[in-house]
Amino acid sequence: MCGIVAAVAQRNVQEILLEGLKRLEYRGYDSAGMTVFNDGVLTRHRALGKVAALTAQLDKAALPGFSGIAHTRWATHGKPSEANAHPHHSSDQVAVVHNGIIENYEAIKESLQRSGYAFSSETDTEVIAHLLFEKLADGLSLFDATQQIVNGLGGAYALGVMCAQEPGVVVGARQGSPLVVGVGINEAFLASDPLALLPVTDRFIYLEEGDLVELREQGAIRIVDRHGNDVERPIHTFEHGDGAASKGNYRHYMLKEIFEQPTVIEAALEGRLSAQSVLIESFGPMRWRFSSALATCISLPAAPATMRGWWRAIGWSAMRGCRCRSRWPLNIATATRSCPKARCLSPSPSPAKPPIPWPRYALLKPSTMWVRWRFVTCPVVRWCGSRICLS
Ligand code: GLU
Repeated sequence: MCGIVAAVAQRNVQEILLEGLKRLEYRGYDSAGMTVFNDGVLTRHRALGKVAALTAQLDKAALPGFSGIAHTRWATHGKPSEANAHPHHSSDQVAVVHNGIIENYEAIKESLQRSGYAFSSETDTEVIAHLLFEKLADGLSLFDATQQIVNGLGGAYALGVMCAQEPGVVVGARQGSPLVVGVGINEAFLASDPLALLPVTDRFIYLEEGDLVELREQGAIRIVDRHGNDVERPIHTFEHGDGAASKGNYRHYMLKEIFEQPTVIEAALEGRLSAQSVLIESFGPMRWRFSSALATCISLPAAPATMRGWWRAIGWSAMRGCRCRSRWPLNIATATRSCPKARCLSPSPSPAKPPIPWPRYALLKPSTMWVRWRFVTCPVVRWCGSRICLS
């Protein structure tokens, strides 16, 4: 998972994008980058590590401009490095940020290489930049080009794209990964999570699966659904205030973080678990380390719901020092139902409750975990091993 922020505004967008990235760091990151339409060209800065590293670069060489896209990356294809960090460009004419995985990128890459495109990264994302370049060269607008290429992309993605030919235009697409439109006053924004945009707007349009959106100057927003029909999506006002950056009603930040764990883990898995499968690539270049655990999860019916349920159950258990007794298959609702202590906390914990003393945070007893591994997990993994092909 990663974070996307984009803006078409009436002011310098550098700070808006940077602040958005900082607010998306909770989603996981290994590098960050930003492209801004600046002085007639697409100008890019990328840095390995935290958003603070990108901030340091921008302190030395600012990127002023009225439109831009930015990204925090969580590597799935290619190691964490500056060359693999987003945005990815094609001939400095097209810039792309992408959250998710393009499952058929290898076939697309081979065909683009045969047409003479050179690749500068190991990511699946770069194919999108070159595909767009090809379509723009045929005379299509950025919006039409994006609409055409997304039909050929497999997997889960949220995209933010811009091109040098159309300053002041950002196009977004959503399929399996979250993307919201922030509605400003004569300005428009895109982000993976509304929290990223709360400093600039509290009005949001939640895109639906397959939606394509175009942001233009003066805050013009056009949305087209998966069938190519122009649609109006409702604008929601964000009611919860800017709680992400403050302590809210919690006594201290650590308590807040503990109570937020189930929601954050659930958000982190969004776009990585489809209705039928787990996207193993989302566990990054070292994904083989997780293969046994994943094999267990994939082999079970309702795997995505089960995994989310387990994460949530573990989160609640950790918080309350109790162990939920639910077994496979389990989902969020049953996890919460089956844990009486969790039920009284869900959906929002009462800030009035006294803090829980540390000793009660103990998770599962090591002896129980060993028995479960020896007699349940291990036989299932072995049995499934031959049936599951992990790429
Ligand atoms: N698959 C892309 C990459 O590895 C995007 C990963 C992400 O969602 O951050 O660069």
